[in-house]
Amino acid sequence: MRERKRTLKALLDAANMHTGTLRYSDHLDSQGRAFYERACQMGLEGIICKRADSRYQQKRSRDWLKVKCASHEEFVIGGYTDPSGSRSGFGSLLMGAHDQEGLIYAGRVGTGFNTRQLTQLSATLQELEVERSPFHGKVPDSRAVHWVRPELVIEVEFTERTRDGRLRHPIFRGLREDRNPEEIRMTAAKQSAATQTTDTASPKGASKARQTSSDKRKNAVSLLGVRLTSPDRVLFPEQGLTKLDLARFYEQIHEWVLPHLARRPLSLVRCPQGRNDECFFQKHPRRAIPASVPRIDVPEKQGSAEYVYVESPADLVGLVQAGALEIHPWGSRIDRLDQPDLLVFDLDPDEGIAWQEMLRVAGTLRERIESLGLTAFLRTTGGKGLHLVVPLEPAANWDQAKAFAKSLAEAHASDDPKRLTTNMSKAKRAGRIFIDYLRNARGATAVGSYTVRARQNAPVAVPIRWDELNAALRSNRYSVENLRRRLSALRADPWADFHAAARPLDADLLKTLGVK
Ligand code: ATP
Ligand code: MN
Repeated sequence: MRERKRTLKALLDAANMHTGTLRYSDHLDSQGRAFYERACQMGLEGIICKRADSRYQQKRSRDWLKVKCASHEEFVIGGYTDPSGSRSGFGSLLMGAHDQEGLIYAGRVGTGFNTRQLTQLSATLQELEVERSPFHGKVPDSRAVHWVRPELVIEVEFTERTRDGRLRHPIFRGLREDRNPEEIRMTAAKQSAATQTTDTASPKGASKARQTSSDKRKNAVSLLGVRLTSPDRVLFPEQGLTKLDLARFYEQIHEWVLPHLARRPLSLVRCPQGRNDECFFQKHPRRAIPASVPRIDVPEKQGSAEYVYVESPADLVGLVQAGALEIHPWGSRIDRLDQPDLLVFDLDPDEGIAWQEMLRVAGTLRERIESLGLTAFLRTTGGKGLHLVVPLEPAANWDQAKAFAKSLAEAHASDDPKRLTTNMSKAKRAGRIFIDYLRNARGATAVGSYTVRARQNAPVAVPIRWDELNAALRSNRYSVENLRRRLSALRADPWADFHAAARPLDADLLKTLGVK
């Protein structure tokens, strides 16, 4: 090889002076790895490696190698296999991409997951499990495969292509939550992945766990027409409270929850594996929520974003199915997104603030609100603080509502600066009660009345009467376990006058607090 190139260079050097179109392709004798990395950085296809003393041959040989730069492709997950050995979660993922016919199988990926990803992803996959293959056409070796709704997009890296053109070593490089599965189209590179299998599961391990899974399918229950998977999953370990328990809880108290929660965009705290496992606050939980739960496109600064909302008891069950352990509505309804129909003043006590202080401040803040002709309703949060909720006739926009709430909160804090602050910085809150008026902004939320919190003892945020605010009360007094007792003992809705008390934030009111 070396000899031939030497001769070639001499020849071309001479020829080049005449034509300039034929060029000598130079080579490096060392630093192969650095050269390869540079080539990949430059976005080139890869490099060719030749054994320097090898001969030119008219056939493939190990002496000349094409080393391709890793390529990334996106795929939709359509199924998974069970883990084998010490591995947890799943064995490999079955990937696909769309063509005109539907989702086409494109191979498997079984490496590149860390333990955390294995756990999280398998929880999500279990939620997506369906009876039938989502793939159009045949999937090789599909006996022990669990099918899933094709809603997750992953990025997969291929290290190289085998000599017969198949893709080698697909490695999982992460979920692409920003990708719409419908948009993942089949390409030539993906197609060639289809011929290969990198399933790590042994047939033995696979059939064992398949059984567990069909048990699970059997276990899934239907509540109000909503399929509830893993109904026995314990969400609140301290009480042994299961997914089914929580769904039943909402089913039983829906007449209390829905009037306050219905038709508002929702953010959720989801803990698919229970409150002691990973929880995340989600504004746009798209895939995880059963399709029966209604959605609305909310205009944003750029484009729009999809929110879920609820209207029916079944929709509440749908949220539980998605592992929603907290439900946080907007302060406006979907029919009038830009005109809030309530304000929330969130009193957050610093550690060490006596409950007695909370009682006092809730009382004085109420007086200030009522001196303006508005009415404040009281809610425990299930946590440490209290919410004062002020019903509005939707009229003012979010900017006005926020400026109004800010001005009111600041006026209150400035009367008692040693005890109160509207500044959310940790330092300013030390030893004080923080009056959080920032719940009153477009897109901001506060926990829904009669909804559970992902905290110890499954506490519930509960509307109460002012005369119930006493030294014995605590914000986490009510829980999934004891709320129903309270409700059946009530003679009247503690917030019965809520709607009748609504007033608009009109020009006069806004002016009183210096809001333009
Ligand atoms: P507590 O009485 O313990 O303060 P709370 O419901 O008022 O209970 P806060 O921590 O004061 O809890 O939070 C106020 C609100 O902020 C929440 O109810 C929720 O609607 C909203 N919120 C905004 N972003 C998040 C987030 N990332 N995680 C949780 N809540 C959030
Ligand atoms: Mn709070």
